[in-house]
Amino acid sequence: LTAASGGGIVAYADSARAEEAPEPPPRKKKVVVLGTGWAGTSFLKNLDSSRYEVKVISPRNYFAFTPLLPSVTCGTVEARSVVEPIRRMFEKKGKDVAYYEAECFKIDPTKKAVHCRSAVGTNLDGNGDFMVDYDYLVVALGATVNTFNTPGVMEHCHFLKEVEDAQKIRKSVIDCFERASIPNISEEEKRKILHFVIIGGGPTGVEFAAELHDFLVEDLVKLYPAIEQFVKITIIQSGEHILNTFDQRIAVFAESKFQRDGIELSTGFRVIKVSDDSITVKCKSSGVETLVPYGMAVWSAGIGTRPVITDFMSQVGQGKRRALATNEWLRVPECDSVYAIGDCSSISQRKIMEDISTIFKVADKDNSGTLTLKEINDVLEDICIRYPQVELYMKSMHMVDIADLIKGGVGDSNKESMVVNIEEFKKALSHVDSQVKTVPATAQVAAQQGYYLADCFNKKDHCVEHPEGPLRLTGSGEGHHNFRPFRYKHLGQFAPLGGEQAAAELPGDWVSMGHSTQWLWYSVYASKQVSWRTRVLVVSDWTRRFIFGRDSSR
Ligand code: FAD
Ligand code: MG
Ligand code: MG
Ligand code: MG
Ligand code: MG
Repeated sequence: LTAASGGGIVAYADSARAEEAPEPPPRKKKVVVLGTGWAGTSFLKNLDSSRYEVKVISPRNYFAFTPLLPSVTCGTVEARSVVEPIRRMFEKKGKDVAYYEAECFKIDPTKKAVHCRSAVGTNLDGNGDFMVDYDYLVVALGATVNTFNTPGVMEHCHFLKEVEDAQKIRKSVIDCFERASIPNISEEEKRKILHFVIIGGGPTGVEFAAELHDFLVEDLVKLYPAIEQFVKITIIQSGEHILNTFDQRIAVFAESKFQRDGIELSTGFRVIKVSDDSITVKCKSSGVETLVPYGMAVWSAGIGTRPVITDFMSQVGQGKRRALATNEWLRVPECDSVYAIGDCSSISQRKIMEDISTIFKVADKDNSGTLTLKEINDVLEDICIRYPQVELYMKSMHMVDIADLIKGGVGDSNKESMVVNIEEFKKALSHVDSQVKTVPATAQVAAQQGYYLADCFNKKDHCVEHPEGPLRLTGSGEGHHNFRPFRYKHLGQFAPLGGEQAAAELPGDWVSMGHSTQWLWYSVYASKQVSWRTRVLVVSDWTRRFIFGRDSSR
């Protein structure tokens, strides 16, 4: 029967109805996706586009594999190898996916439309502006650089956020070497030109420093032997350690490796001004300011909010937040049918203390005014789904079960026969919310959110309006929740440190460092490529580099 009706599962479901009253097929809902980075493409790849009319808007018609951008800065990998054309990704998705190369400059949640400006055709007739309306909007605009309003940074520093940035850095490094090779340049001037400064000791800054160091010792010193002695790399970090989102062991390993390599670490310094040839830094402990002459500087110290997001947040009453807040189902709660994923958004996890009285009432099935262990256990699964901080808290306190947690609140009593009243229940859970975790701004999070949201959209038939169904606990008692809230699964992180060495932090407190970890890195990053085409390109770039070294032409 399904085969005869000719349209797979959807047609089968509809055909029973069609026999009674032939209705025109309902209009497909319009889904508009802003951005084609990690979050946007992960959503698009997993969305069943036969259910929706999909429009994608992004000023770049490709996806960029950002973790390899530091390798692009030194030509270890070519820029072309880390990008995948967006239209190729849609090839198999059919006709209902449209892509517009444009920038969204305003989201209008009341009209349910987005205002866009063509990225290419502003000088054609008209000004290239157009409007796209939506039934569902997926905001995946990513983040921008954050200079913290430090004077001179925008004008004089390089950034490492986009493919073009990486290409500019590559040119600029070679520029510095050629400039320092010109005759009649004083030693002092050479030292200045060949001083490469990286501001920010996070994963991106560290990886770039390592790449640059490899480029210098493996390739450039052979080509510019006369000026080798003048080259210096410095990382300026305001905190006490570099890589402070990593395990301490990794930070220590990285710091000692960089020391051996001669990469200078200026920790505890804040950049307060950048001019065309010097950086003013301030020692955080002594307050003393120093001028650091430099040839090239890369700013990689934090991410900021895109203006279109700031504007949207003020429209929906989110004020001056750093990122667009969503609920745990990734929906922007203040408006209708708008979802946000990736670096532009952050999930605000609901606190259990806000709902504690409701939870107590729902759990207290016999209306006795007290909860038995059984009553608590019956709702425990729901509690842990809705408030993951409960599990995190129990884990952090080495508690085996909920009775341990409750007992802390009611004093020592027999687990099985214990009963708690509302006050005791509140007291027992009062510290749980301290374990609310924010998810980091990484590709891993963005990709998982995109995947999760597409999954919700694919199953939307079951829960027509909002993917978040009411939980039995806090909802209207409608039966069962349709969708679990988004839960981030951390799969670990890498820090390539140069010289064919890397550090990795993997789930289960497993840390590995050294040459073998670099091979693990190669295999993980090869396997993570979005297409076979880019995989082949990246692997052949690596091979080419092993055999011939990097290309140092401009
Ligand atoms: P993005 O990937 O930045 O995508 C945003 C998209 O929105 C882009 O397509 C952009 O063109 C588009 N856009 C921008 N403005 C507009 C507009 N006005 N209208 C329409 N579209 C717009 N994470 C890891 O987990 N592991 C790593 O090893 C790692 N390495 C990194 C290395 C570097 C150099 C950088 C910069 C980042 C790295 N990250 C890494 C972080 C990771 O890249 C980000 O967390 C991730 O890109 C976030 O995905 P996103 O989709 O939210 O944003
Ligand atoms: Mg995106
Ligand atoms: Mg991206
Ligand atoms: Mg981003
Ligand atoms: Mg009871």
